[in-house]
Amino acid sequence: MTPNPSPTTPAQPPPWHALPAAHVLARLETTPDGLSEAEARRRLARFGPNELRATPPTPAWRILAAQLRSVVVLLLVAAAALALATGERLDAAAIAAVLVLNTGLGFATELRARRAMEALLRLQPARATALRDGRPRTLDARELVPGDILLLEAGQAVPADARILEAVELQTNEAALTGESLPVPKRAEPPVEPATPLPDRQTMVYRGTAVVAGGGRAVVTATAMETEVGRIGRLAGEIRQERTPLERRLDQLGRRLVLLALAIAAAITALGIAQGAPAAATLATGIALAIAAVPEGLPAVATITLALGLRRMARRNALVRRLPAVETLGSVTTICTDKTGTLTAGEMTVTTLWVARREIHVSGIGYAPEGEFSADGHRLEPAREPALLEALETAALANRAGLARENGRWTPHGDPTEAALLTAALKAGLDRDRLLQERPETAAIPFSSERMLMATFHRTPHGLLACVKGAPDRVLRLCTRLRTEHGEEPLDDDRRRAILDGNDRLARRGLRVLALARGPVPGPDERALHDLTFLALAGMLDPPAPGVPETIRAFREAGIRTVMLTGDQRATAEAIGRTLGVLGPDDETMDGYELERISDDELARRARRTAAFSRIGPEHKLRIVTTYRRQGEIVAMLGDGVNDAPALRKADIGVAMGRRGTDVAKEAADLILQDDRFPTIAAAIEEGRTIFDNIRKFVFYLFSCNLAEILVLLAASLAGFPTPLTPLQILWLNLITDTFPALALALEPPEPDIMRRPAREPRAAILSPPFLRAIAFYATLMTLPTLAAFAWGLHTGPARATTLAFMTLALAQIFHLGNARSPGAVLVPRIALRNPYAIAAVIGSASLQLAAAYLPPLADTLDLAPLALRHWTVIAPLALTPALVGQALKLLRPTPTRTAAGHPPAGPHADRPTEGPRTSDRANR
Ligand code: ADP
Ligand code: MG
Repeated sequence: MTPNPSPTTPAQPPPWHALPAAHVLARLETTPDGLSEAEARRRLARFGPNELRATPPTPAWRILAAQLRSVVVLLLVAAAALALATGERLDAAAIAAVLVLNTGLGFATELRARRAMEALLRLQPARATALRDGRPRTLDARELVPGDILLLEAGQAVPADARILEAVELQTNEAALTGESLPVPKRAEPPVEPATPLPDRQTMVYRGTAVVAGGGRAVVTATAMETEVGRIGRLAGEIRQERTPLERRLDQLGRRLVLLALAIAAAITALGIAQGAPAAATLATGIALAIAAVPEGLPAVATITLALGLRRMARRNALVRRLPAVETLGSVTTICTDKTGTLTAGEMTVTTLWVARREIHVSGIGYAPEGEFSADGHRLEPAREPALLEALETAALANRAGLARENGRWTPHGDPTEAALLTAALKAGLDRDRLLQERPETAAIPFSSERMLMATFHRTPHGLLACVKGAPDRVLRLCTRLRTEHGEEPLDDDRRRAILDGNDRLARRGLRVLALARGPVPGPDERALHDLTFLALAGMLDPPAPGVPETIRAFREAGIRTVMLTGDQRATAEAIGRTLGVLGPDDETMDGYELERISDDELARRARRTAAFSRIGPEHKLRIVTTYRRQGEIVAMLGDGVNDAPALRKADIGVAMGRRGTDVAKEAADLILQDDRFPTIAAAIEEGRTIFDNIRKFVFYLFSCNLAEILVLLAASLAGFPTPLTPLQILWLNLITDTFPALALALEPPEPDIMRRPAREPRAAILSPPFLRAIAFYATLMTLPTLAAFAWGLHTGPARATTLAFMTLALAQIFHLGNARSPGAVLVPRIALRNPYAIAAVIGSASLQLAAAYLPPLADTLDLAPLALRHWTVIAPLALTPALVGQALKLLRPTPTRTAAGHPPAGPHADRPTEGPRTSDRANR
């Protein structure tokens, strides 16, 4: 697409990107400290909220068109036309009525379900950080106004168009706007030429793009529809609606069934005509067959199930962003998760410092700066410990976090690791702001997960001072001296070993360890970081997040492995892994260095045994996810960072945290945990499995009913009987009688063992041979009594025979609901009552069926003959047979997992996977 250069006629001032930053601030009547709250409020009233006009929902006509395009409609139209051609006016009219009703109902349910889903799938409003009254404030991005000073950091979506004021390694991805997928470096000065096209305006960032590296400040120049995206009218964050694989497979299955029926219909018609039967009768059978084959209720029930499932998940704080994820969730076998802040609470406290070869204990838990220092059981006076003070000073200076007292509670802003260090420094009376007055910061190297350290540069009377903190092994490489009680000493092997021992001791207690170092440098450059003085190790406690060990145990029971991916070092990862239960007795760990050395084959061999990867950078995550997927695992991957996006996309289910996650990660994710809690994944998986179960239950139910209808017609025709069911009767069965039980199946509660059995095979799931065999078995079980009733009724005339067949089949189908429900026998009241909708559906459908028989207009339309008591003595036992046989089978074999060949399968659960590890090899994907 062509960029949209701002018009620059002489009358107009130069565009923002061409003005020096200071002029931009002046023109927007703002300052580097941002607007005051009062001014921001005035501007908000003037410019309006910073939002793009909402993404248009799927238009209603499109939903209607989709309804009309379905095979069902085509068939019904054909059937009506055929009925009209053969002079069956009433039939034609009834079919037409059904057509309208079916389309109308389908449209209404679909529309409501889609709207509900769209509301859920819409991304939550983004947050932004802006300076107000000189202080950073996190606000809803809709509250931004021109003149606000935005703080940008990696991972954020840019919430408005803005002119850069300050940039540190700042890069954005502007693909959404310009189509350019490489990151674009940004800078504050010098301004670019007025005529510079949008993709090259390095002094600006634009709404809808994302910060992928570095950070900076920028002043908002345009909001809402005035932004470039707003003006183009191309809306970011559009809802992605796809059909789920299951929906596609159901479509396929439906189409096959129709083809089958059409083939049978053609054969029967040909046969009938060859035998000299009246053409009208044969045609009626053909039409009936065609109608019988189509599970008319299926699309509506499927949509409703998905919509309800989405809503239940949302209620449990799991927000699904892509519909197919709903299904995939139920099949997840491996969860790759980061540690810090996900498995652990992310509430850090520095509890131990290793300074000058001594371990110093710090008391007090949390971010409140209240606590004392002690060594060997003796209290220390920090003011008299120069080495300790130097270390804590460095910790406070090489820091980007903030601590604030909000409602009497000390709350961290920014990285909790850094905030914990601020707290430790404050416990010794060292305040970052005061330290900065003496040693102003002139430059910084930001933390990145690849670098595993950060540095700040400060002006001092003796020249430039670098303050460094980061992973101990990385920091140690930069040091040649060690700070001890006596000053600085060369870092010989003995001292190096002492540091590593200290690190090991802290890490084995599960502490997160950071090293601190500093030293004079010639210039603010990463390459200048050498010959530094090693100051201290800081060990931080990060307790397990609530509910995590229980969830990991539950996952184990459900056949789902939890794999921890962490940037932390091996010893820490191992200690925490054991505490959390991620690492069982036989599980191994692997670290990033090793990972880089080994081949893909070796990784594949060892991945199954490895439950924790340590010292992992984002670039490794993609490789790990790929390895597991290649082994046929269905992988859910949790990630938050900008660099996690590729792995999130690669995983079968990408999961991001709603609050803590970066916008980039959320954009790439399929599932968002709104409460940022790991156990929420368990809830999502449980719902996913339930949805999957329920879809299988009603597919089983509807298809066995349809197949029974086909078999009845086919068998009667082969036996030379008249047609046992009229087209209208079959429509009635499919649209009225079957729908309520199918809906009740969509509402089945999760089975009690749902999280105690292994994940389902995602591919074979729906159409596995045992499942199809079960359908065939129960269809036959309903066909035989129907034919028996028909044959018995034939001696009193075809109309009565049809009525008997119709009533028997209808009631048999209604009671067949019990076979499709839980794997246990539903005649056990405790099980029966678990789904009250099922009971209501049986009563409701049975009443409608009786109404059909006894209400004159209905009975006339359906061609039903009056029924006497003696007819019921035939219908009732015959109609109950399939249900009773099914229940008996279940009682005989309460665990349907052991279905041996040759035995009648036990319903939709026939192919439930057995306990233990899965043995079958799924195809590589
Ligand atoms: P994780 O969050 O899984 O521990 P990270 O990639 O965030 O992984 O961190 C990797 C390592 O980098 C940590 O183990 C720690 O040693 C170091 N580190 C983490 N945060 C910071 C920070 N803010 N400043 C300096 N070093 C850090
Ligand atoms: Mg981290």
